[in-house]
Amino acid sequence: MTAGTDSALTDTSRRCIVQKFGGSSVASAELIQRVARRIAATHAKRGRVVAVVSAMGDSTDELISLAHKVNPAPPSREMDQLLSTGETITAPLMAMALERLGVPAISLTGLQAGIRTSSVHRSARIVDIVPQRIIDELERGRVVVVAGFQGVDEALDITTLGRGGTDTTAVALAVELSAERCEIYTDVAGVYTADPRVEPRARLIPEIAYEEMLEFAAVGAKVMHPRAVEIGETYSMPIVVRSTFEDQPGTLICQHPAMEDRQKIRGIAHDSGVAKVILTRVPDRPGIAAAVFGAIGKAGINVDIIVQNVSHDGFTDLSFTIAEEDLSRSRPVLEEVAREVQAEQVVADTGIATVSVVGTAFLGTPGMFARIFDALSAQGINVEQITTSQIHVTVIIARDRVADAVRALHAEFELEHD
Ligand code: ADP
Ligand code: ASP
Ligand code: MG
Repeated sequence: MTAGTDSALTDTSRRCIVQKFGGSSVASAELIQRVARRIAATHAKRGRVVAVVSAMGDSTDELISLAHKVNPAPPSREMDQLLSTGETITAPLMAMALERLGVPAISLTGLQAGIRTSSVHRSARIVDIVPQRIIDELERGRVVVVAGFQGVDEALDITTLGRGGTDTTAVALAVELSAERCEIYTDVAGVYTADPRVEPRARLIPEIAYEEMLEFAAVGAKVMHPRAVEIGETYSMPIVVRSTFEDQPGTLICQHPAMEDRQKIRGIAHDSGVAKVILTRVPDRPGIAAAVFGAIGKAGINVDIIVQNVSHDGFTDLSFTIAEEDLSRSRPVLEEVAREVQAEQVVADTGIATVSVVGTAFLGTPGMFARIFDALSAQGINVEQITTSQIHVTVIIARDRVADAVRALHAEFELEHD
């Protein structure tokens, strides 16, 4: 992907704004009309608007469960054909709602919007955008409504960008069109110190650096898709996360947030959508991990936390986390790999969740880990596994204790206070 260089795009007085609306913001006909009024207001004030929309409400989840009813391990290509239809429905509905308000609008699918991706179904990456159609429509004075989350690969097969991927469509388009900024409209007022639905005392973060937001999103703060933040950072595209329903400034994700906001614990993220896979009694010899993760990677399945236990009499247990959603399609691959490396069996545990403490304060501050473990053990929460990076600590715990863990850590790091 390249940042737009067309002079019609970079003319600052004529820069467009990209506005993305998530599933809960477009969950009904009434909400689509409400969002259309918001887009119309921006159009009246600014002229050039690209709106990127998600599937209505929970329709992606419903499509996934429908697919699993007809085939518990549906082929990924067919899943993409199916899942892309969610966004394909919202875009024309939004364009119709805009037309009704007297605002000229046109909807485009990912293909029509020129979004070219890799061929990795269900987690494709945008490799290129051919934006000419969008530019032409903007020139004609139309609001362009793009179906998020979808693109096409070289063979023109439909791909999707991974759950939450409409954010990525929006930021990538903002970069390609040299937009002034990318606005992500959602059902909360911005990025908080923890999921406000789990910890009501969570505080809104007015500004956050890309780097921190990326880490926060990668460990479960699902308010932003990690790839979207990564693209924003690479091309220094300002991203604003704010409420669809209230007129509030929200959170600015940018390169250099206010100095005093750095060097501290940013927030607590959790992810209950993970599963732990354990290959038991794997012979402990070189090349095993490469064989296992090579095969899983080839199947397009993302592996997160990897733990290899200490070897006993030449055997070891190899465990790792994946998205629970990927479990059914990874089964055949895992069974095959287990046979290949002569593991005893493959066990999957879906009773777990991860909770992460995120922030630059980990750099050179002793005692951080002790605080995390003390806060959790005071609640009787057992830590099953731990991983760390320079800007986060992640623990694996029982899924039914996740809300307690988030609140305990939020209190421990005094995140409700500024
Ligand atoms: P959309 O459909 O608009 O893309 P998502 O459901 O993907 O919305 O993301 C918004 C949700 O993210 C919120 O409703 C909230 O429950 C959740 N969330 C998790 N962590 C955070 C956080 N740190 N700040 C704000 N929201 C968060
Ligand atoms: N509809 C897709 C999902 O639910 C993409 C998105 O909403 O960003 O994951
Ligand atoms: Mg989302």
